[in-house]
Amino acid sequence: MNRIYIHTLADYKEQSVTIAGWVHVARNQGKVAFFDFRDMTGMVQGVVFGKPEVLEIAKTLRPEWVVAVTGIVHERPENMKKEGAVNGDIELEITDITILNKAETPPFDITGSTADISEEVRLAERYIDLRSERMQNNMRMRGRVAQFVRTQLYEQGFTEIETPLFTKSTPEGARDYIVPARMSPGHFYALPQSPQQYKQLLMAGGIEKYFQLARCMRDEDLRGDRQPEFTQVDMEMSFVTEEDIMNLNEALLISVVTEFYPEKRIQQIPFPRMTYAEAMETYGNDRPDIREDKEDPNLLAFLWIVDFPFFEKTADSDDPQAQGEWTFTHNPFSLSKPEDVEKLVNKQDIGSIMAAQYDITLNGYEIGGGSIRAHDPVILRSILEILGHSAEKIESNFGHMLKALGSGCPPHGGIAWGFDRLMMILQNEPNIREVIAFPKTRGGRDLMMDAPSPIDHKQLDELGIVLRKQSE
Ligand code: ASP
Repeated sequence: MNRIYIHTLADYKEQSVTIAGWVHVARNQGKVAFFDFRDMTGMVQGVVFGKPEVLEIAKTLRPEWVVAVTGIVHERPENMKKEGAVNGDIELEITDITILNKAETPPFDITGSTADISEEVRLAERYIDLRSERMQNNMRMRGRVAQFVRTQLYEQGFTEIETPLFTKSTPEGARDYIVPARMSPGHFYALPQSPQQYKQLLMAGGIEKYFQLARCMRDEDLRGDRQPEFTQVDMEMSFVTEEDIMNLNEALLISVVTEFYPEKRIQQIPFPRMTYAEAMETYGNDRPDIREDKEDPNLLAFLWIVDFPFFEKTADSDDPQAQGEWTFTHNPFSLSKPEDVEKLVNKQDIGSIMAAQYDITLNGYEIGGGSIRAHDPVILRSILEILGHSAEKIESNFGHMLKALGSGCPPHGGIAWGFDRLMMILQNEPNIREVIAFPKTRGGRDLMMDAPSPIDHKQLDELGIVLRKQSE
């Protein structure tokens, strides 16, 4: 099929062309039938008149049927032109229609805004929802921004490296998803909460500039801006300071906005900085929304939060024994500020130790965070001891990290963006599910696949798993 994409049709005036796509709208008026056809590039009006054999087929067409349509591209009469609309000044005089596939009546209307349609309905047949202008735009913009970020990072000498999904627990402060290992009965992989350990191991491996659009899995209660799996723009660099990482990321974020969202205004460049203490004091949280005008959907108020305490006391632990112990605020692999390294090593004045940690927030959301890491095994061991890990636990859980740091590991640091959150804000969407092709519901379900679901006894047997009887 010599198919022409709909957005180029204006180049074919008075020529016969074939398009392929979906029936967006069908209006049958007896002797005349009007349609809007849609492909991934746009929409065009088609008309059938005076051709009884074509009209017969045309009258059977229903919304969402898939068709190939041949016709002649005409300029519309002056009074019928739709100013500003794509293909608003042309229409297709249809000479032939081939039905490629029929469709059940769609469960919801995708020809207008989908904002008022129940999300459960949209998610149950997401493939239909994805055809809407809103989702097409979200998916394409997400892909374009990802592609742009990749190109920019490559231009600066970064390499994208995939890290394992079957791994060992990385403490990021959430629950792990675990996967039973059939070949080692009673043993489990953890799905990564982030590639934190691997990216540091890549620095030990001499990669120097790593990045990855990485999938992260965290078993947390879900809110509007959380999903069980989400995407980070994750990076790590050797021989860098906090300033280097912040400057690189600031420039990258600004270039994303200017390239793809010229209608948006960044409130302040360079991005302002606020200490954690000031944010908590003034706003009561560490991701304050500092927009001058919260009604303006095109205002972007980026803000760096710096000077985080390294440790805090676990007040809310479920385990009464653990209450009052030290826990890390962000990342156990971080380094302190240079002036606090001594306190870290000597385990003195722990509550006052500041981390070389920076978060970036946008319009009241945390969209990224990172730190300079402890690259000296003595310091990492000391941190793990402050966190209350026994020598055996340090060896079994972090032995590989200590060994790598002691192998000639350069000083290094990094950051990760919450890519879904960033895209949600840039696309003016109310939650991250709108910028993810196949998200889970708040209850963690995939309504389309009906997952999670039970597995059969044979699979459980192979894994050596016996389920406890569910109490009725
Ligand atoms: N791994 C950290 C996170 O997921 C980000 C970083 O420190 O680079 O929050």
